[in-house]
Amino acid sequence: MTCVFCEISRKEKPAHIIYEDKDIMVILDINPISKGHLLVIPKEHHEAIQDTPVKTLVKTWVIASAFAKIYRDKLKAPGVNVITNSGSPAGQVVFHFHVHVIPRWEQDGFKKGGRHVLSEEEASEITSMLSDYLDIVKSYLNEISI
Ligand code: AMP
Ligand code: ZN
Repeated sequence: MTCVFCEISRKEKPAHIIYEDKDIMVILDINPISKGHLLVIPKEHHEAIQDTPVKTLVKTWVIASAFAKIYRDKLKAPGVNVITNSGSPAGQVVFHFHVHVIPRWEQDGFKKGGRHVLSEEEASEITSMLSDYLDIVKSYLNEISI
């Protein structure tokens, strides 16, 4: 199966490359939500955030964080969204893990989805559901020794 981000990383397909090293590339999104919308993409193919090794995750998110810093502190974007989509219900359309860095400007027209008020019942259900799995968080942190 062809993967557009693998093709870009192999230079088989053109892209506007903003930054590149042996592991990561940062390109301009072809359909930007706002002016300056970037994608931070590991060159290695992993389908989504859950499939990606911890070291690769760290490098990807650190580079995304650096661009968030550049946008706010150097390019005067008053806001930025840093997100990844995983799975089609979350809107993932390219199944090669990547992080969006989206500078935000007042009145840029990008709207958030609907929300509901958190009930006590919902809060305790989710708290107890997730508390069973906090060892996974510790195992991720162990891999980077922090
Ligand atoms: P998603 O999978 O929803 O996180 O988003 C995939 C993103 O990749 C979308 O924002 C697309 O506009 C973008 N995209 C798809 N093909 C290309 C391409 N050839 N060059 C740059 N961006 C792309
Ligand atoms: Zn790929």
